[in-house]
Amino acid sequence: MTRVVQKYGGTSVASPARLRRVARRVRDAAAGAQVVVVVSAMGETTDELIALAHSVSTDPPSREMDMLLSSGEIITAPLLAMALEAAGTRAVSLTGPQAGIRTSRAHRTARIVDIVPQRVLDELDAGKVVVVAGFQGATEELDITTLGRGGSDTSAVALAVAVRAQRCEIFTDVSGVHTADPRLLPEARVIPVITYEEMLELAAAGARVIHPRAVEIGEAYGMEIRVRSTFDEHPGTTIRSVANANMEERQKVRGIAHETDVAKVTLLGVPDSPGVAASIFGPLADEHIAVDIVVQNVSHAGTTDVSFTVPESDLRRAQQMLDGVAKQVRASGFSATADIAKVSVVGTGLRGTPSVFAQIFRALAEAGINIQMISSSEIHVTCIIDRARVRDAVRALHAAFELESI
Ligand code: ADP
Ligand code: ASP
Ligand code: MG
Repeated sequence: MTRVVQKYGGTSVASPARLRRVARRVRDAAAGAQVVVVVSAMGETTDELIALAHSVSTDPPSREMDMLLSSGEIITAPLLAMALEAAGTRAVSLTGPQAGIRTSRAHRTARIVDIVPQRVLDELDAGKVVVVAGFQGATEELDITTLGRGGSDTSAVALAVAVRAQRCEIFTDVSGVHTADPRLLPEARVIPVITYEEMLELAAAGARVIHPRAVEIGEAYGMEIRVRSTFDEHPGTTIRSVANANMEERQKVRGIAHETDVAKVTLLGVPDSPGVAASIFGPLADEHIAVDIVVQNVSHAGTTDVSFTVPESDLRRAQQMLDGVAKQVRASGFSATADIAKVSVVGTGLRGTPSVFAQIFRALAEAGINIQMISSSEIHVTCIIDRARVRDAVRALHAAFELESI
């Protein structure tokens, strides 16, 4: 019998009416297959729980945060199981640990170590739909952990691998992976098929429709992932290893991603000598602050300026740390700004196509948008620009690569 894992995100389960709608979809799927459902917390529950924690403590211990945050998903799972039973489908809900999800001890950013899905398989064999609370697992000591924001996608793909499902379906609030965020750019189109590699790059560049770690697991185990809407019947996007039957027929650019959770830090007048970069970036790495784009100016009179980006959500911590670091490396000072954003052009067709750079810079120049920093890999080009111009930049690049007509 076919076995599928379906994951429903926060918006899809935000109210009792939506839970009943999801129950009907799951019931229909369960008519012809064994179904495991992974659910997120309802609506904005996770944000509300974080705010609640900060109302009683300025620095809540991460172990206690995980106990608290995991409860969001634990509310959704039994409610959906009840709605399924009410719709005439036998169902059982399980927490992440009950589903056998074992993780590392890194609270709030735990990694899945392995999954022993025996209980899930037993319940499937007993003819039930199994509803699993996403975003969570437990350490060997049975401490509850969470997998990082957006982590229910990771739970779903990992469970699909563990129960040997045919595919993993990610149900969300848009009709699939689009050529750009459809909420920013209504003319964005659904991409019917995309490779893991391109999806990973889009997700890492800010297209939050699926979490990059979920894509990584899908790629590592060859699990086909479909992204589609809870609210319509559009077939959505299939993520798999080969996008096109015709090997040579590749699209140069697959999509434009943007990210606004970004800030720029500049260390001024840093001595241009060996070891200085290590003194700056070592402490940031120790604090798990992800440095993204780094630019070092040409040195003048033995000193240089170093600029780099960090998530805006980590800026306060980065600034606290850099106060000491700036003194230690004898920088003349440092500045930080958060009114910037990242815009990325992604596609495996960028390989060996130098003209793409010129097209990107021309499109942004014609829209009057200044590029503050640039970084690129074989399959993406990222520009840091003024945050107020994000929509204009995404629109200009989308048009330059004719993505509205794929
Ligand atoms: P869920 O709660 O279902 O996990 P998310 O809010 O995490 O949903 O992700 C869905 C959102 O991702 C969409 O509402 C959309 O605004 C955003 N998004 C960003 N980039 C893209 C893209 N390229 N294609 C589709 N959605 C995108
Ligand atoms: N509820 C968690 C979050 O909001 C996990 C998820 O929805 O994927 O980040
Ligand atoms: Mg999500």
